[in-house]
Amino acid sequence: MATIFSRIAMGEIPCYKVAENDEFFAFLDINPIQKGHTLVIPKEEVDYLFDIDDEKLGRMMVFAKQVAAQIKSKMGCRRVAVVVLGLEVPHAHIHLIPINEEKDVDFKVKQQLSEDEFKLIAEQIKL
Ligand code: 5GP
Repeated sequence: MATIFSRIAMGEIPCYKVAENDEFFAFLDINPIQKGHTLVIPKEEVDYLFDIDDEKLGRMMVFAKQVAAQIKSKMGCRRVAVVVLGLEVPHAHIHLIPINEEKDVDFKVKQQLSEDEFKLIAEQIKL
């Protein structure tokens, strides 16, 4: 059975899309810890990020870099944190989180955003 993230990338489950190419897909995290919190996934189903082969992992990081540049310029943050957890969804993903200070990376604190806010943020970040 396809993972929830595959189903998002295939358009079967709605998301706030940020960027896409033939190999990778980026969309807003549905429970963001900061406005602009984005997930980058490979379209291919791989559970653990470091099981992705070296060259593809390099391309994924370049794709994430392009998305992060957009997040940084549009969300006006000091840095874009790069976090890999993978404890909840068994489909490799990189969290990109706009931050100004260390405490901005706290997965226990969630932002409550309206649908309009999600749409606006995705539109701002969109590549
Ligand atoms: P992790 O696997 O890295 O521990 O956490 C998975 C992340 O995916 C969480 O931040 C969670 O909010 C996000 N997430 C889980 N299900 C969905 C979903 O259906 N849509 C979106 N946009 N994000 C999701």
